[in-house]
Order: sequence, then C-alpha cells, then structure tokens
Amino acid sequence: MKLSLNAELCEGFGACARHLPEVFTLDEWGYAELRGDGVVPEGKEHLARRAMDDCPVLAIAAAAAAEERGHS
Ligand code: SF4
Repeated sequence: MKLSLNAELCEGFGACARHLPEVFTLDEWGYAELRGDGVVPEGKEHLARRAMDDCPVLAIAAAAAAEERGHS
C-alpha cells in the first residue's frame, strides 16, 4: 500500500503524522510531508486508513494500484 499527499490541501492538523510517523512528517509550521515515497510499512495499513479518514481536508489518498505496481 502506498499513500499520496496533496500538500496544497494540507491545513496542518497533524493527524497523519500522529497515526503514521513512518510515512508522514511535519515541517516546522506543522504541515505534512511524505517521508520517502509514501509506501506504508507492512502491517500498518489500518493506520494508513485512519490517517486518510482523520485528515479533515482529505489531503491523503491511496495511490492507484497500477502506480503501486510500478506501471503508469
Ligand atoms: S492530517 Fe491532513 S491536514 Fe493534517 S497534517 Fe496530515 S495531511 Fe495535513
């Protein structure tokens, strides 16, 4: 599973980094950034879904399956 972040939507609530610090970090103003390429560590998929659900501005999405497999 891989996540994408629309940084233009992010309002800096920080829920994503709280749920999934392996994937999200916050910059000095509290806005989210992806660590690496957004791949969710195995076994943390439920936390990825919570991060998506809890982001108030819906800035987080699961990357398309095709993209995840390396096709575009
Ligand atoms: S939960 Fe959403 S709004 Fe909050 S920091 Fe993460 S991406 Fe930004």
